[in-house]
Amino acid sequence: MEWEIVIGLEVHVQLSTESKLFSGASTRFGAAPNTQACAVDLAMPGTLPVPNEQAFRYAIMFGLAMNAEISKRSVFERKNYFYPDLPKGYQTTQLEQPIVGAGEVEIHLEDGGSKKVRLHHAHLEEDAGKSLHEDFHGMSGIDLNRAGTPLIEIVSEPDMRSAAEAVAYLRKIHSIVTYLGISDGDMSQGSLRCDANVSVRLKGEEKLGTRTELKNINSFRFVERAIKVEAERQIDILEDGGSIEQETRLYDADKNETRSMRSKEVANDYRYFPCPDLLPVVLTEEYIEQLRKELPELPDTKAERFQSEFNLSAYDADQLTQDRDSAEYFETVCKSCGEPKLAANWITGELAALLNRKEISIAESPISATQLAGLITRIKDNTISSKIAKQVFEAICEGEGSADDIIEKRGLKQVSDTGAIEKMVDEVIAASDAQVDNYRRADESKRPKMMGYFVGQIMKASKGQANPQMINKILKEKLDALL
Ligand code: ADP
Ligand code: MG
Repeated sequence: MEWEIVIGLEVHVQLSTESKLFSGASTRFGAAPNTQACAVDLAMPGTLPVPNEQAFRYAIMFGLAMNAEISKRSVFERKNYFYPDLPKGYQTTQLEQPIVGAGEVEIHLEDGGSKKVRLHHAHLEEDAGKSLHEDFHGMSGIDLNRAGTPLIEIVSEPDMRSAAEAVAYLRKIHSIVTYLGISDGDMSQGSLRCDANVSVRLKGEEKLGTRTELKNINSFRFVERAIKVEAERQIDILEDGGSIEQETRLYDADKNETRSMRSKEVANDYRYFPCPDLLPVVLTEEYIEQLRKELPELPDTKAERFQSEFNLSAYDADQLTQDRDSAEYFETVCKSCGEPKLAANWITGELAALLNRKEISIAESPISATQLAGLITRIKDNTISSKIAKQVFEAICEGEGSADDIIEKRGLKQVSDTGAIEKMVDEVIAASDAQVDNYRRADESKRPKMMGYFVGQIMKASKGQANPQMINKILKEKLDALL
């Protein structure tokens, strides 16, 4: 039986406003517990919420970037439930009239393909506080610093068909919000959180299967793993003749399994109703159009420009525009060395591998864009071979200075002096009677391959510094003269 996985994501993005959605308290991360919760966040009687315009601007910018409809009139509602970290007894959110309506976004897959994922809507809401269990024995701590922080909840249609597509979609959301500068997108600090709705059905079946919802997955890697393992669980149950229960499940990364949190039957009735403390928010066309004009260049447009302006492949352009820092780094390297293809190769190759190994971002790269440009310039003008360049690259990363400093200090300059190379070629030929003999006797078509031995010896003699094109040319002339 062939199964198809169906996924819809609900992504919460924390907006990087200075103050909260309905109060003037700071949203800064990492402050001592309860030092950034004011009377409004604590739901003191007599306080009233005041909407933060910046949060609206950010939500609208997001909607525009997703080619979505922007609602001219949006309404806040109260979602009522009890939880210790929610002193108001309700979350202020949007339900019937969210600020951002239907839209769509293109995602790029690793095999080079792409597809569109539809956005159902995105709404503005406030975050709750945090319950702390770890440092308390027999009780819980409550930190309300996060209470009232503005979020957008981004709800997709169930358009994704594999864990890889879900990750590609999430990466796209991440890249859009960070390009727009409306969120820091830091998953480890909870600025971007994802719930994955997963169901399976037989290929060809139209009707959607019963779904489960995986809560609060906090890394791209875990999204992929959680969806895979949950889909496998569902398929196993269905193949054994069982049925899927609609429920909320939790992904346990240590055990790589999902387990039941609560079933939908006992789900809360939230008794949503429009918040009487807040007026509907009405936007003018001019307000929206002004924001549209101010949008920065977004990843897809940047990728297209990288293809046309720098002649990059679609794949390279996509890799380099996934986050704004990489794109900026690339453009700085290009500007200062004028070699886009080499720049792209070094950034997506050697540099990406290094950053991966060290688990750091390009913003923390041990080699600056200017330093990499300096290295590429020396490859281009034949001062060093690309093999030696790897050695220089590592030395720069170790903090030994610029490419020029290291080439000078270590004497790595490529030997392009005809006399010196001829001498090395002569020496190697003189010391390789047997190989020369073989070369002479070999069929003409086999000879180019047989030159490899000599080139290797000469390279070794020159410690990798002889110009390879020149070795090849001089060697061939000298060997052919012996025929
Ligand atoms: P709820 O109101 O319970 O949150 P929604 O209908 O709003 O449910 O859907 C929430 C998310 O679940 C959306 O992203 C949607 O695409 C996704 N979804 C809905 N049905 C399915 C399904 N059968 N399989 C996978 N995802 C689904
Ligand atoms: Mg939901």
